[in-house]
Amino acid sequence: MNQPSTSTPTLIHNGRCCDPATNQEWVGDLYLADGKIAAQPDDLPPGTRIVDATGCLVTPGLIDVHVHLREPGGETAETIASGAAAAAAGGFTTIVAMPNTQPPIDTPKGVRYVLDGGRQAGATRVLTTACLTTGRAGTAVAPLAELAAAGAVAFTDDGCTVQDDAIMRTAMQRAAQLGVPVMDHAQDRVMECQGGALHAGRRAAAWGWPGIPAEAETRIVARDIALARETGAALHIQHVSCAASVDLIADAQQTGVRVTAEATPHHLWFCEDDIDPARPDAYKMNPPLRTAADRGRLQSGVCEGTLALFATDHAPHPMAEKAKGFVAAPFGVVGLETAMAATYSLLVATERMPLMRWLRAWTTAPAQLINRPAPSLAVGQTADVTVFDLGVDWQVVADHFVSRGRNTSFAGQQLTGKVKAVFVDGWRIDSR
Ligand SMILES: [Zn+2]
Repeated sequence: MNQPSTSTPTLIHNGRCCDPATNQEWVGDLYLADGKIAAQPDDLPPGTRIVDATGCLVTPGLIDVHVHLREPGGETAETIASGAAAAAAGGFTTIVAMPNTQPPIDTPKGVRYVLDGGRQAGATRVLTTACLTTGRAGTAVAPLAELAAAGAVAFTDDGCTVQDDAIMRTAMQRAAQLGVPVMDHAQDRVMECQGGALHAGRRAAAWGWPGIPAEAETRIVARDIALARETGAALHIQHVSCAASVDLIADAQQTGVRVTAEATPHHLWFCEDDIDPARPDAYKMNPPLRTAADRGRLQSGVCEGTLALFATDHAPHPMAEKAKGFVAAPFGVVGLETAMAATYSLLVATERMPLMRWLRAWTTAPAQLINRPAPSLAVGQTADVTVFDLGVDWQVVADHFVSRGRNTSFAGQQLTGKVKAVFVDGWRIDSR
């Protein structure tokens, strides 16, 4: 990128500023200078950019700990640059890439490739995870110390689960020694029923398609919790999909196990009853959409704080791949450009969740998970800021996405709140 050495001083004017890190909320101005939140001078320097934030929420930039950028190897679906731009368009100033690329991110060189690509993109900050096991094959623990030294913020074989308990135990012991969290896509491969395409419930039965039972998830969640208790590792359960998992996680947290968990906007919003069998692009993901009761427990789980983080599991695929029919199409939906508005509309606009708690689940909680300083609007902090216009109601149109992915569950949905501006290090990121 060819940028001058300092960002333009900026006054974000008359917004509703909410800072979960300090629990402060005020209506007024926020001044950004030299990449930091700064005290507002009596006289603004010439050339100061003014952003009118009347009717907008002004918050520390959001963090998404679960993003598939597809590069290297899957650039038709997304690139590091297109994903980072989509993230900025969605209000995220930091994203964490998953390592299930081609090749998988299981070497220090691979970690550096993603981090360098993120820096070159010059949009949202790109961090990355690395594999728990070499090649995500589940048979040999990856060189975790070297991967952490190269900059990996967590270890995961996302998309796969380490099935062998002994390998998982060794991986968690090493991660605990390094102080790096283990994120797990919890799914028992045997119980998943090879070829399962959706929840093993009434829709799978009606259509005669192979299903993935909820027990495939809860069995591994229980195993992982037992191993976290034994090893002291920081365990994070990715994209929780069913009620029994939430209950297991709540019990474990009460007895002092280091376990956190995330919920995705699509699992909170939709359930198996919503599935259109002709639309794998919108409704086929792993783990699958489950019952209305499961969705209700996920919602109560985020409201009570058992699931302390939101994360998108942004998973772009070319539409040609998604057109192969429900059973043959790949798993996954995009999420970066709808997640902030979807969770706000579902939980805050309906007064089910306080605004500050919602923001914590997108800012301080994910920062804590990946051992980063809590993002904050306090003077002296890094100027990573999102301006979210609460006065805009909009309908999701996939063709308007900055992401290369069009495979969204939210097409046609009416959402409240739209990202107006995003600043990273004080730079305004214009994705469009
Ligand atoms: Zn996953």
